[in-house]
Amino acid sequence: MKYLINKPNLSSLEKKYVNQALNTTWLSANGENTKIFQNKFSKFLGIKNSLAVQSGTAALHLALKSLGVGADDKVIIPNYTCVSNLSAASQCNAKAILVDVEKETLGLDYELVKIAIKKYKPKVLQLVHVYGFPARDTLKIIKLCKKFNVHVIEDTSEALGATINKKKVGNFGSINVTSIRSEKMIGVGEGAVISSNNKKIFQKIELLASRNAPFRTRKDPYWKKYYVNGEGYNYLMPHLLGSVARAQIERFSSILLKKKINVGKIYLKYFKVDNLKLCQNKLNKSSPVYWLNSIYFENLNKNNIQKLGEYLMSCGIEVRSGFWPLNEFKSFKSIYVTKSNISKKIFNRTLVLPSSYDLKIKDIIFIREKIKIFLRKYL
Ligand SMILES: *Cc1c(COP(=O)(O)O)cnc(C)c1O
Repeated sequence: MKYLINKPNLSSLEKKYVNQALNTTWLSANGENTKIFQNKFSKFLGIKNSLAVQSGTAALHLALKSLGVGADDKVIIPNYTCVSNLSAASQCNAKAILVDVEKETLGLDYELVKIAIKKYKPKVLQLVHVYGFPARDTLKIIKLCKKFNVHVIEDTSEALGATINKKKVGNFGSINVTSIRSEKMIGVGEGAVISSNNKKIFQKIELLASRNAPFRTRKDPYWKKYYVNGEGYNYLMPHLLGSVARAQIERFSSILLKKKINVGKIYLKYFKVDNLKLCQNKLNKSSPVYWLNSIYFENLNKNNIQKLGEYLMSCGIEVRSGFWPLNEFKSFKSIYVTKSNISKKIFNRTLVLPSSYDLKIKDIIFIREKIKIFLRKYL
């Protein structure tokens, strides 16, 4: 495949820090480079505390657990997102209230959230910014959640660096989760960061991620190290990955983020010309990071969109469908709140296109021309 959805961007800096870590022989959690990464990540987002963990799914699980989510609690989750948002709630035995999204940015729809909060009284809401675009109703939803005492976990796995009113996403809820698996805004293979300004919540998160064993520091007596408070998890990031993460965050603002935004702007410019409708809109006062560029086919049926996708793949252009609507996974405990079942339409009519950092104008024109050839010739 020549044009990839998201090709990792690694440099000599990643190698330098990985070698550094190897030379220390310390490969497990709490490595020096991991700590530096956590500090730099915190500084980038403007949130006091960050912990590097092994996946976004694990981070979401920790976030829910730290807020005390358990059996019979309800959690609002957008119906159009990565299945991890749902799996994490399921791991807590919570009931998912799947709420449909709006069409402009594919974020949670405020009007439906309002209905869901009043009717189901959830403990937590997961606010996800999809494909690099800040969710349209973020401010209104945050206000509503404050009023009804609903905790907000923000998921910026797809939108690290995006802003609303110049404030970075990740700062609107009480906990932020950012996956950093290889295809995200920064990538280390498999991993994530969980951040919070709330000291008490953050300490709980640290404890749960480290087996729920409270006496782990050098100062604690050696014979207390195996003591635990109860069920816990082993979720901390190993040092080799923390070393890659350090290099990626150091290169993020000045290099990677700029490249990514540039690719998004090329799509905006060159797809507009031919009336190919990109899936999401940039809204007033928000700045997206264009994690994935996707196209929405209003007038093409599902079958033909699939054929187009297969044709593009055969031309070396990697494509993906939209997210599978979460309400269709029947093995989870969930309730679906919707008006028009819009997430299914988005799933059926969306093609996600190559969005790697290094795509050039000529690459994006090539992709556009292949789409046009198909539309002309086969329809
Ligand atoms: C990728 C992603 C996750 C899951 O992260 P993993 O590191 O793959 O477990 C969660 N939420 C969103 C919005 C994502 O895009």
